[in-house]
Amino acid sequence: MDSLLIRNARLDGQLVDILVEGGVYKEIGPDVGVSAERVLDAGGKPIVPPFYNMHTHAAMSLMRGYADDMELFKWLNEYIWPAERDISPEDVYHGTRLAILEMIRTGSIFFNDMYWYPDVALQAVEEMGVRAALGRFIIEESPGRIHRLNIEANNSLEKAYERSVVRDRVFLTWSPHAIYTVSEATLRRIGEQAMATGEHINIHASETIREVEDALKKYGMSPIAWLDKCGVLGPKTVLAHCVHLSEADIKLIRERGATVVHMPVSNAKLGSGNFNYRKVVELGGCNFTIGTDGNASNNNLSMFDEVKAAALVAKLTTGDPACGKDDALWKAATRGGAQAFGINGGIIAEGAVADALLIDASNVLMVPEHYLVANMVYSADSSCVDTVICGGRVLMEGRRIDGEADIIAGARERAQRLDRIQL
Ligand SMILES: [Zn+2]
Repeated sequence: MDSLLIRNARLDGQLVDILVEGGVYKEIGPDVGVSAERVLDAGGKPIVPPFYNMHTHAAMSLMRGYADDMELFKWLNEYIWPAERDISPEDVYHGTRLAILEMIRTGSIFFNDMYWYPDVALQAVEEMGVRAALGRFIIEESPGRIHRLNIEANNSLEKAYERSVVRDRVFLTWSPHAIYTVSEATLRRIGEQAMATGEHINIHASETIREVEDALKKYGMSPIAWLDKCGVLGPKTVLAHCVHLSEADIKLIRERGATVVHMPVSNAKLGSGNFNYRKVVELGGCNFTIGTDGNASNNNLSMFDEVKAAALVAKLTTGDPACGKDDALWKAATRGGAQAFGINGGIIAEGAVADALLIDASNVLMVPEHYLVANMVYSADSSCVDTVICGGRVLMEGRRIDGEADIIAGARERAQRLDRIQL
């Protein structure tokens, strides 16, 4: 059985040794007197849970800085979708690898992804050692007609997943893009299939005022109520954005046990609006997690930026500095994401999966250390992440990641090709 011994890690102020076996924390204590196949000396660095990024379009990393400073529908219709018309599996492979590289460097070991060619994204995930939820991406060319590329890639994803040796760290989801790109009949079918397979549904919801107004006009109800009517709102539904929710929407989300993903940076950059943290989370009691969105609308995948922005937006929206507390946001960005996918992670404890970060406590952003979580939320950035571990496998050690130069070179080459697409 694969084993890893992490010596001299600082956990809740105490120096401990941590034995990992089979990807799980087996024993944590002041002096675990055993040997392991691999020993890692943490040198007294704090060990903390990693981030679980709950909404991405990983391969859009190739479009970082490609089309900025415009609202969602103009951005989608005039820039992103035309560029994506020619996107190839090779683009997705290299773009996803670039995204995973960035996520590891910025302390995330899981991402919940929705994009073209998820079968190819699976290959990148297999190679790079992270966890992921990969969506059967569904977008319609016309109502009831699923995009041909989705059908082929989703079939290929299922076959590749069957053969995959990393099913312990990869989930398949159903990922209809949004209610304005997927028809009622298709949503209903997805709801039935997800129910039958027990898999998650991942969808954009109530991102802009226009989406809400269009739904009220077309269906006579909000996007959240429409999702419920179509049978896709349940305990395994992950709702990206949720910026514009009514009191009734919040109640419905809580009652169905669905999970909200907050992406304050993308919401701010696209001018989509302010997520109401107090109403949805503090008063509303909805399952709450954090994500980055894709690199075309952020423009990085750092969850450090996201937790801090989430805290700041909560305070700005309410005028109350006590709204959006560091402990709650830290938990949402770590354990909250893991729990939404039923992963016993986001916590350093015996029996949990061995996902962790070792933090460079001597980094100037971490000094002094009155309270570690406050530093992680309000002060730290990716330069504080020294080592990244996923399921007991060391993905970055002393800020070194195997194959980094090749991943960057491959992504640069593919991005040059995208530049030649005529908009
Ligand atoms: Zn998105």
